[in-house]
Amino acid sequence: MSAMKIMDSILDLIFPKKCHVCGALNDEPFCMKCFTKIQLLKPQAFSHSVGTYQGTLKKAIHKFKFNKKIELAQPLGYLLVKYVNRHINIAGIEMVVPVPLHARRLCERGYNQSELLCHELTKYLNVPTVGGLLYRKRETQPQFELSRVDRFRNVRGAFEVKGRKLLEGKSVLLVDDIYTTGYTTSECTRVLKQNGARFVHILTLSRAVDDRV
Ligand SMILES: [Zn+2]
Repeated sequence: MSAMKIMDSILDLIFPKKCHVCGALNDEPFCMKCFTKIQLLKPQAFSHSVGTYQGTLKKAIHKFKFNKKIELAQPLGYLLVKYVNRHINIAGIEMVVPVPLHARRLCERGYNQSELLCHELTKYLNVPTVGGLLYRKRETQPQFELSRVDRFRNVRGAFEVKGRKLLEGKSVLLVDDIYTTGYTTSECTRVLKQNGARFVHILTLSRAVDDRV
């Protein structure tokens, strides 16, 4: 046994692994009981969400995003992979692009949750994640703090593409964690297309049941 593995086993004894959602002892960050409680959504034309933003999925995303539980990227990413395999024709997709965070937010949080999800997709689907191509040039307020009208204004013109050549004629899978009114993803789509993307599929982990998330 390597030193690393021994260390892991000792840590497991002191801090047994638990499900991040319900706290039950479990080897994976998600237990099976919580996993099966996720309400899955039916596929839509070009804008896909895996499940509704409530219960298990909401708790897991919240911890993943705000409590630095980055190990949840793996099971949450796997949900995306399963969804893609079942409902999206991956053969046509040439790159995975995360909805970007503004540099300041990225610095505060330390990671872009959507980009971590993209890396999981890349691992399983053999399509590269291209981070940094689409970026947030203007800082925006969190969408959930705003009224519907302000949400549109908030994201309009907030994104920019760096490296247009890379995008020219490409079919893109745009990934985000939560879909609320759809203004963020549609603004990203507009900018990607304006900069040469041939096609943009939208894939979000969850869809808000109402827009007050
Ligand atoms: Zn659980």
